[in-house]
Amino acid sequence: MYGLVVNALLILFSLFLLGFSGYPSAEKTSHNSDNTTVQRLTMVEEQIVGRGIKDRRILDAMRKIPRHLFVDSSLKERAYGDHPLPIGEGQTISQPYVVAWMTDALHLKSSDRVLEIGTGSGYQAAVLGEIVEQVYTVEIRIALKETADTLLHQLGYKNIKTKYGDGYYGWEQYAPFDAIIITASANHIPPPLIEQLKEGGRLIIPLGSTLYYQTLTLVTKSSNELNVEQMGGVAFVPMIGETKRK
Ligand code: SAH
Repeated sequence: MYGLVVNALLILFSLFLLGFSGYPSAEKTSHNSDNTTVQRLTMVEEQIVGRGIKDRRILDAMRKIPRHLFVDSSLKERAYGDHPLPIGEGQTISQPYVVAWMTDALHLKSSDRVLEIGTGSGYQAAVLGEIVEQVYTVEIRIALKETADTLLHQLGYKNIKTKYGDGYYGWEQYAPFDAIIITASANHIPPPLIEQLKEGGRLIIPLGSTLYYQTLTLVTKSSNELNVEQMGGVAFVPMIGETKRK
């Protein structure tokens, strides 16, 4: 009970910080946007802060980004739930906590240039786009690439470049990267991605060949050696393309 009261107070305080003066009136904002704002702030308090993520930049990004726009409008009511959701073509937008956890593990700096493999809905790219200087994101399914690109553009992200292609090969033209995030599972790290990682750079990938369980793995490159840290269990859709053939 005490926890609920504290949460409610934190959410009201966050609403205040976001520029609301008390409860938003019907004239100021539509019912829907009020509703999604409250859902979004509740999501961050309960699922992200509640599980120990402290990086203010990540929390602020997730408080700001309208996650419900990254899923089909029929799923809008579930957009802030504690789970992944379908985004078409058998793919999913990750559970909010997993997005925060992976972003946190990369220890990003505002000057970083980050490569993402698996644009999907574009939500993870938007979170990165709020934190770092430049995001490059590669998607192998053209329809998803197009939808994400259009939305990211509409939302005003000028520091996110999208590309249609096989992420196995990274994005040579803009390499090397300070960090690489792979948001589809693979049974090995594609060698071109290791090559495109800067010295001192961090790479995160769900490693494993099982469909419903992989190990989130953080790799740090130093003196051309790889330091590998296993972070915990996750369930991602598999990478297709060259990675699958190897
Ligand atoms: N990061 C996404 C979720 C990713 S779901 C989000 O925030 O919504 C995994 C995505 O990886 C899918 O869109 C899938 O099409 C894509 N994918 C699978 N194999 C890939 C490959 N070889 N190269 C690039 N993208 C790939």
